[in-house]
Amino acid sequence: MTTFFCPACWTATGKDVPQCRICGCDIQEYLAEKSYAQRLIEALNHPDPTTRLRVAFILGRRRESEAVPFLARKVRESRDLYIGLACLEALLEIGDEAALEELRSFREDERPLIAAKAIALLHEKE
Ligand SMILES: [Zn+2]
Repeated sequence: MTTFFCPACWTATGKDVPQCRICGCDIQEYLAEKSYAQRLIEALNHPDPTTRLRVAFILGRRRESEAVPFLARKVRESRDLYIGLACLEALLEIGDEAALEELRSFREDERPLIAAKAIALLHEKE
């Protein structure tokens, strides 16, 4: 069974619930105002870790350049190394100058796995 979440506060809601019981968000209106890319970017904070990973992957595949600062922030702020690594891969796939600049900034990250991944990805690119 699929769980539905409020896109504004990520509280679990029922399917087709018009309004979030926690934050009061009008869910359909909220979604209608956002582009697909914006919705994907917000889903980087989805409570389900598998969804977060999938979203990072899709953002990379779609080469969503507006996602670059959000992917970089996710790498910096998340304690979940898997999402960090997935966001680094997405930055490489997006591959524009801003994305590569962010990727380079992680070469000296204090977390060895993040730094090693950033170095390996940049090496792959060159
Ligand atoms: Zn809500």
